[in-house]
Amino acid sequence: MKEEKNNESDKLMEKIVSLCKRRGFIFQGSEIYGGLAGTFDWGHFGVALKNNIKQNWWKKFVDSRRDMYGVDAAILMRQEVWQATGHVANFADPLDGKQFNTMLKTQVGAGEEAATSYLRPETAQGMFVNFKNTVDAFHPKLPFGMAQIGKAFRNEIAPRDFLFRQREFEQMEIEYFIRSEDWEKYFEYWKEEMLSWMEELGLDMAKVHELEVPDADRAHYSKRTIDFEFDFPFGRKELFGLAYRTDFDLSTHKLEYIDEDAGGKIVPHVIEPSMGVDRAVLALLVSSYTEDTKSDEVRGYLKFKPNIAPIICAVSPLLKNKSELVEYANLKVYAPLKAVFGRVAWDDNGNIGKRYRRQDEIGTPFCIVVDFDTLEDNTVTVRDRDTGEQERVKVSDLQDYIKERIS
Ligand code: ATP
Repeated sequence: MKEEKNNESDKLMEKIVSLCKRRGFIFQGSEIYGGLAGTFDWGHFGVALKNNIKQNWWKKFVDSRRDMYGVDAAILMRQEVWQATGHVANFADPLDGKQFNTMLKTQVGAGEEAATSYLRPETAQGMFVNFKNTVDAFHPKLPFGMAQIGKAFRNEIAPRDFLFRQREFEQMEIEYFIRSEDWEKYFEYWKEEMLSWMEELGLDMAKVHELEVPDADRAHYSKRTIDFEFDFPFGRKELFGLAYRTDFDLSTHKLEYIDEDAGGKIVPHVIEPSMGVDRAVLALLVSSYTEDTKSDEVRGYLKFKPNIAPIICAVSPLLKNKSELVEYANLKVYAPLKAVFGRVAWDDNGNIGKRYRRQDEIGTPFCIVVDFDTLEDNTVTVRDRDTGEQERVKVSDLQDYIKERIS
């Protein structure tokens, strides 16, 4: 029974990995030279999906709030940053009884001027080292946060499970600065915010679980950590983390804050919601991959929400060698939709059945077909990805129709 389940899970991962390659989402890094383990390259639809996820995150946690300040810090930082935080001494995994430091080391500068530097293993420190700059520039009152999306690098000993454990990946992190007495309140608050974002993204919430990380497994600076775990096909594993980091980081960098309300200098405490972009993509792929076995042929599709899908709709002339259909589809349907929605595809490759299959696999919610009736009555067929149902919609109503369906 267990073996059967493992086979099913392996098959699901294989299907997702091959769909991602076949449809131009994600490729192995350096593939034509044999691949570089722990790295992936993102193709057209993968970039679109990833950008939608990041924009959605930024909109919720930065743009729609008054208390959040964005940062985009340099990936290369002075060695002292990582010495101060303890990363140089302790950011290590066990390897044959020894400790192997997983920071990727590099040299900055030439000749005698060359200094050791590291590709940052987390985005968090890029925010802490800009705490003073942010306070001086914007004079925020507590509580307030800093947010960053960016690459992080870890020389993982055993990269594996597709996007799950990579050597180069992306993080979306928030450092939320509070007064120490408020930590429990804001910990709960951020837990709920993270859960609501996962739901908005379209994750299968039945697969999301909270793990209270026990004392012995927590980072030394953390007084409380929750891992949000996800039932990936290869097991229940960490998706995101939420940590109460106390005043560890700001104290380490000798940073303070003048609290006018309390009338003196304090070191704010920090709640840190930390989310991996790549694990978010993988969890979303697992949540969205659906197989429809209604007909003889299995139809696999990605059930993305329209706001997250790489393509909102695809436009097709029924036949690509009928110039009147192609012209109508191009000028009266594709061009105006493309101008409004951007993420609109032109698809005239193969027969209609093949086009539907392709768009289903990409996760495109709507396929619009221009046929001979269109030339007579200015209506088109709109096919729904999930139900396969088709309806006739007036060309003049298309924009409103799509806006309504995606809202
Ligand atoms: P793990 O225990 O799986 O190694 P971690 O606890 O070291 O993860 P954090 O340091 O808390 O991870 O990093 C924050 C987030 O960054 C994680 O929740 C995850 O989403 C993401 N992340 C961490 N390491 C990797 C990696 N090697 N590949 C992809 N994403 C990662």
